[in-house]
Amino acid sequence: METPVSFDYAPAPESRAVVSIKPKYGHFIGGKFVAGSKHFPTINPATEEVLSQIALAGKADVDAAVKAARKAYTTTWSKMSGKERGKYLFRIARIMQERSREFAVLETLDNGKPIRESRDVDVPLAAAHFFYHAGWADKLEFAGLGTSTKPHGVAGQIIPWNFPLLMLAWKVAPALAAGNTVVLKPAENTSLTALLFAEVCQQAELPAGVVNIVTGDGSTGALIVNHPGIDKIAFTGSTEVGKIIARAVAPTHKSVTLELGGKAANIIFEDAAIDEAIEGIVNGVFFNQGHVCCAGSRLILQESVAEEVVEKLKKRMAKIRVGDPMDKNTDLGAINSKEQLLKIRDLSATGDTEGAERWSAPCDLPTKGFWFPPTIFTGVTQSHRIAREEIFGPVLSVLTFRTPQEGIDKANNTPFGLSAGIWSEKGSRILWASQQLRAGVIWANTFNKFDPTSPFGGYKESGWGREGGRHGLSAYLKGVGHE
Ligand code: NDP
Repeated sequence: METPVSFDYAPAPESRAVVSIKPKYGHFIGGKFVAGSKHFPTINPATEEVLSQIALAGKADVDAAVKAARKAYTTTWSKMSGKERGKYLFRIARIMQERSREFAVLETLDNGKPIRESRDVDVPLAAAHFFYHAGWADKLEFAGLGTSTKPHGVAGQIIPWNFPLLMLAWKVAPALAAGNTVVLKPAENTSLTALLFAEVCQQAELPAGVVNIVTGDGSTGALIVNHPGIDKIAFTGSTEVGKIIARAVAPTHKSVTLELGGKAANIIFEDAAIDEAIEGIVNGVFFNQGHVCCAGSRLILQESVAEEVVEKLKKRMAKIRVGDPMDKNTDLGAINSKEQLLKIRDLSATGDTEGAERWSAPCDLPTKGFWFPPTIFTGVTQSHRIAREEIFGPVLSVLTFRTPQEGIDKANNTPFGLSAGIWSEKGSRILWASQQLRAGVIWANTFNKFDPTSPFGGYKESGWGREGGRHGLSAYLKGVGHE
């Protein structure tokens, strides 16, 4: 038998010369960049290089941002026709496309995700969200949400570090299309693309104060949540902080949507197309280093195919290229922060101590930066912490089932309910399983597919409300049952 020829990949680095990062940033308030008082560093998690100093917003900064947003809402944005608002959104979308390379490189430097993903997923999807919502701005009365809907006013938006620009787009685009103005806080580890987005707002000549961006940590987020001048809170992040926010807004007039954690089941039935399912499993849990709320982090395998799937999966995992996120051949980049790396290590260690069997793909991890190899645990039971808690890293827990009902019961045995995957060649089984699963998003014979037209959100501890599509738009309007 001939030995198969294999070629090494030559380095294919993206240039970082397309972005210019300032040594220090302020906040974006009332259409202008204003200096911050205190600063903290933001680093490249792949190299630990300090990229810039980010301002930490305190009470005065948040007050100024809310004031600017209120003024823009009352004097300009709420008075403007939907058609005019739509023009600005289209303009923003087009500028994001024109500057897409800049956004992709900056996102990869600040977040650690592979350039292939920031270039092909994050940035195009972010622009698509603006295009999609631009189309709704002058058609709100035809969205099936009633003819007397109104914007809330000022929306306070708090986003996480896993998809910094994309989460900004999920929040800002529907808010603006519906006629709200916003005060947005990016995550402290990943503020740079939000600050570049502020430049795009200036370039699009968006009226001053319609979008305000204050940077900072959890304390800044709490100032936004508790500010009396805010009418609506939209949050994406951990279930723990989501609960704090729910308690804080409960006695107020504020409307709230929460997009929280998940522990999705990816169920492989014995009649599935196994090779396709392997690709779906890999995409489901190793995409974006597993820093994905809807990641398929619990693989639920029918026993009759379990051995075959695990064997093929290990072979496929050995081909995942881990390393420099700026290399266009890289599949798995850096873990976003030291804290997140420690959390992944700690939870994985409980997998060992509770009796599961760990296997990690052989790979040379860089010496600087934060790295974790693609890993699977077999022999996982439902009581193991790695089957119950969100690891938010490139770690897959494998469980097995004998009957389809047992598979569904195991999939639903979680406090979360954000997403799920079903792999089967039988349409009737897919329909049956999707009706049983308690998850907001269910993919069949695919995983991690996103589209601005499609609502996204969860059941149970995965959150309240939906983002995307008409459902997401409705969360930014009064008069449709969301006040
Ligand atoms: P957090 O929920 O702590 O952070 C999300 C956002 O909320 C950030 O902007 C954060 O600020 C801000 N924030 C933190 N505390 C408060 C508060 N009391 N009031 C208002 N805003 C606040 O998530 P982490 O980033 O710390 O990640 C921890 C875990 O959360 C992850 O391991 C993962 O399991 C989960 N997670 C889930 C995500 C999802 O998409 N569902 C996304 C990210 C994380 P800052 O970061 O600046 O401190």
